Amino acid sequence: AHLDHIDAVDADIHAFLHVARQSALDTAAAVDARRGAGEELGPLAGVPIAIKDVLATRDMPTTSGSKILEGWIPPYDATVVARLRAADLVPLGKTNMDEFAMGSSTEHSAYGPTRNPWDLERIPGGSGGGSAAAVSAFEAPLALGSDTGGSIRQPAAVTGSVGVKPTYGGVSRYGAIALASSLDQVGPVSRTVLDSALLHDVIGGYDPLDSTSLTSAWPSMAAAAQAGLADGALAGMRVGVVKELNGAGFQAGVTQRFEETLALLSAAGAEIVEVSAPNFEYAVAAYYLILPAEASSNLARFDSVRFGIRVNPEDGPLTSERVMAATREAGFGPEVKRRIILGTYALSAGYYDAYYGSAQKVRTLIQRDFDAAFESVDVLVSPSAPTTAFRFGEKLADPMAMYLNDITTIPANLAGVPGMGLPMGLAPEDGLPTGLQVMAPAGEDARLYTFGAALE
Ligand code: GLN
Repeated sequence: AHLDHIDAVDADIHAFLHVARQSALDTAAAVDARRGAGEELGPLAGVPIAIKDVLATRDMPTTSGSKILEGWIPPYDATVVARLRAADLVPLGKTNMDEFAMGSSTEHSAYGPTRNPWDLERIPGGSGGGSAAAVSAFEAPLALGSDTGGSIRQPAAVTGSVGVKPTYGGVSRYGAIALASSLDQVGPVSRTVLDSALLHDVIGGYDPLDSTSLTSAWPSMAAAAQAGLADGALAGMRVGVVKELNGAGFQAGVTQRFEETLALLSAAGAEIVEVSAPNFEYAVAAYYLILPAEASSNLARFDSVRFGIRVNPEDGPLTSERVMAATREAGFGPEVKRRIILGTYALSAGYYDAYYGSAQKVRTLIQRDFDAAFESVDVLVSPSAPTTAFRFGEKLADPMAMYLNDITTIPANLAGVPGMGLPMGLAPEDGLPTGLQVMAPAGEDARLYTFGAALE
C-alpha cells in the first residue's frame, strides 16, 4: 500500500531519490512468512521505513544529495540501517536532502527540491525534507533522519511530524556520511511520539564502530512514551521557557500556538518557569564557524579517487590535482563550496584562534547555559522553528536568512543534549503546521518521550 501511494503522490512531492520496490516487497513477504510460521518478531517487524540518503545502504545508491556521489552503492550498511534490518523493518528507499545535509529547505539537493505535502509551493524544511515529507504525506509511517543543527526537528515542525535528535553519542554515526562529526546525530521521524520511541529503541545504543558512541545502558524509550500516556504524567514537571528562543522575530501564529501549549501544560499540572540562556544569542554564529570547519575537513575525502564520479579537465594535463579540481567543480553545489571555503578560511593559520577558537569558547558557554538551566527545570521548551514553511526561493539567495532559521535548533547540537520536535497545531494566518521543541539534559532522552507522549 505504501509503495502504491508513493507511485501515486511522489511525482508531486519528490520525497524519494530511490524507491526499492522489489526488495521492499521481498522483505515484507519474508517477514510475513516467518510470522505465519509462528516466529516471535519485534514490535516494528514488517513496518515500512524511509531512509535519509545520508545513510550508507549496501543495496541502494547513497548520494547524500550530491552529484559527486551519483551512482555510488556503498559496500556496507550504516549501523542504524543494519539494526533496522535486524529488527525486520522494511526499507522502502532513500529520501531527498540538502546536499551533504547543508540547508534548511531541501532546495540545496543536487536532485531538485522536495515539496511540502501541506502546500506544494513551500519547502518541507531541511536538510531532511525528504524524510519528513514522506512521513507527512503517508508515503512511509517512519523515517530516519540526521540532525547536525536541526535537520530532523525543523522539517518535522514544518510538516506537522514528530522528530528526535538523540543525545550526542546515543545513536551510532557509523555509515552516516559526516557533515560535522561533533554535532551529527541520527534519529527518528514519525507521526506519533510512540512511533519515534519504538524506532529509537531499534537504532540506539552502543556501537564499537563509532568512537564517540556512549557505552551507557539506555532505558526503553517506548516504555517512557507509554508512561507519558498515564494520567497526571505532566503534574509537577518543571518546564523552562527559553527567553531567547521565542517572541521577537517569531511568526505571530507560531508564538500564539506556543503560548497555548504553555497554557495546556500548566492546566496539566506542569510548572512553567522562564529561563534565560544569554549565550544562545551567539549559537548561530558559533555553529556557522564550527560546522564549516569540520565539514571542510570531512569533505576532503571526495577526491575523485575513492568515491563517486570522476571528471577530467577539459584540456591540459591530467594531473591528480587538476582531475580533483575538475571533479569537485562539477560535483559540489554552491552551498557546499561556500562552506568548504568558509571552513578552510576559519581553520587557516592566523585566523584559527580568532574564528574557530572563539567559536569553541562560545560552545562551552552555551553548554554552561544548559547546565545552569537544568539545575532548576526538567525540560526546556521553545518553538521548533521561528516560522512555518516558507516559499521556494524565499531565502535561497540570502544564506544568512537561511542560517537564521536554525536559531532554535542549533543550541542542542552545540551542547549534545537531546531535542524533540512535535506538532503544535496550525498557524492561524496561513494554516500551516507549527512545532514545539523540547530539550532535556544529555542522557535523558526518555524524559522527552514521556513529556512528548503526555502532551500529544
Ligand atoms: N540547517 C542547518 C545547516 O544548514 C542544519 C543542518 C543539519 O542539521 N544537517 O547546517
